Amino acid sequence: MTTVNPNVPTDFIRTIVTADVQAGKNGGRVVTRFPPEPNGYLHIGHAKSICLNFGVAQEFGGVCHLRFDDTNPEKEEVEYVESIKEMVRWLGFDWGDKLFYASDYFDRLHDFAVELIRRGKAFVCYLSADELREYRGTLTEPGRDSPYRNRSVDENLKLFAAMRAGELEEGTCVLRAKIDMASPNLNMRDPVIYRIKKVEHHRTGGKWCIYPMYDYAHSLSDMIEGITHSLCTLEFEDHRPLYDWCLDTLETPCHPQQIEFARLNLTYTVMSKRRLLELVTGGYVDGWDDPRMPTLAGMRRRGVTPEAIRDFCERIGMAKRDSVVDVAMLEHSIRDDLNRRAPRVMAVLRPLRVVIDNYPDDRVEQMDAINNPEDASMGTRLVPFSKVLYIERDDFREDPPKKFFRLAPGREVRLRYGYLITCTNVVKNAEGEVVELHCTYDPATRGGNTPDGRKVKSTLHWVSAAHAIPAEVRLYDRLFNVENPGGEDWKTQLNPGSLEVLTSCMVEPSLAGAMPGSRYQFERQGYFCVDLHSSPDKLVFNRTVGLKDAWVKIEQAGTERA
Ligand code: ATP
Ligand code: MG
Repeated sequence: MTTVNPNVPTDFIRTIVTADVQAGKNGGRVVTRFPPEPNGYLHIGHAKSICLNFGVAQEFGGVCHLRFDDTNPEKEEVEYVESIKEMVRWLGFDWGDKLFYASDYFDRLHDFAVELIRRGKAFVCYLSADELREYRGTLTEPGRDSPYRNRSVDENLKLFAAMRAGELEEGTCVLRAKIDMASPNLNMRDPVIYRIKKVEHHRTGGKWCIYPMYDYAHSLSDMIEGITHSLCTLEFEDHRPLYDWCLDTLETPCHPQQIEFARLNLTYTVMSKRRLLELVTGGYVDGWDDPRMPTLAGMRRRGVTPEAIRDFCERIGMAKRDSVVDVAMLEHSIRDDLNRRAPRVMAVLRPLRVVIDNYPDDRVEQMDAINNPEDASMGTRLVPFSKVLYIERDDFREDPPKKFFRLAPGREVRLRYGYLITCTNVVKNAEGEVVELHCTYDPATRGGNTPDGRKVKSTLHWVSAAHAIPAEVRLYDRLFNVENPGGEDWKTQLNPGSLEVLTSCMVEPSLAGAMPGSRYQFERQGYFCVDLHSSPDKLVFNRTVGLKDAWVKIEQAGTERA
């Protein structure tokens, strides 16, 4: 992991933390937290928050807690808790023994609510949901005091006890903080802090029938854990006064500082868990870990490495204003990382048979091939060459257009690590479709070299028909075909071509038994990863990302314009 010198802050959050540490605030300690609600799988937006919270803690010698914000019993599930833990670890972060659940604090949160009532700072309110909304006012009009606002402390204590005991039905009443109905900030207009929900909780079972609201629970959970810097996304900026009010009013022993940063948005991507859940339940994708999903589980299955995600999060930095990041930038980080680590192999996705007429029928030569030109330590391997090969159907044109330099009748090309071949004859089926090419090879060009120095314009990848292994290859493209999917009809913006399955691919024999999760560069095609459900008798590869880097172009265009 990268180590940053904390004396050189890289963004406004690290600037604040540096100043706090230097001033000896919180005794110089830094404690952060990542607080997911277990109501879905983590996505790339969460990765930004994870890298920030765990990153800041690491850089300042502090700790980062993993806290499940499980205050809403209806949508939360154990499955989500487990996947979240798995993905935080996969990203490369460790919470040690600092694993917490807001639900562990239900007793204390309840006692704090009683304390607020005692201090005359909370009251039980019988307004209906509609009335609550109406009394709340608008951005331009102040709210009105609830008729239940001035009940005595004793009465409120009794009513809250009745709420807790299950004596009142859902929706009868709520507990509200008593703050200021005329506040310009709607969050401060006597917000609800507890409601009745007769629902079992995945951790506390049937123990509770009242559950705390997010803002209330969050500030106090941070305080209970001694969090020093509570980093959250911008939509909570207007909630900060309430966060502070809870801690100030209860005169808590410590007061974490809430700091907001911009959430990550990506082009061609939806990021809200509600929408991602809809894609899963509606069968638009094949589960939360579908390789087209922006979830970390999906990205892992697609072949993205944690290093690439961390690199991306570092590159995008921290802003105070919301923006949309070009997904090409994420793809750039993925490619950059895979370029360094992925061994090169040859795979033919849409095979076209090639017979080399002047090559001996039963000869097999083992050709030396480089595993990674970026990393000599990855060595070489042997690739068998024989009389009948497959090349990519796209690499041949019977009637080549002007700038097509690949194989065509009468033309000579190089087979990578093989020989130079010239196409002499084209075989077609009854429908006129090309089914086989006949070629001759030049024995003096072994390894692809030309002793006479003659040039060929194209080098093709290939596999030996007798040695190649059949495989399925899944070509993934963007899940949405509009840049900023959203609005009512966001599901009509799904890209119908986001998955193309090729079932008759042929890959070089070194890929026999490739383990799920292994990553390769298929020469000239892109980066591919062995699918989670691949097996030795049925190899399945997922395309992680193609070779062409759109981001470099975008960046260059930007510099040229500047
Ligand atoms: P969603 O809107 O996708 O449901 P959420 O904010 O409700 O997300 P949480 O589980 O509450 O999801 O998020 C946990 C943490 O991750 C929060 O601190 C939240 O601010 C942060 N987070 C969520 N989405 C993003 C994002 N797109 N970019 C940066 N941080 C995010
Ligand atoms: Mg949330």
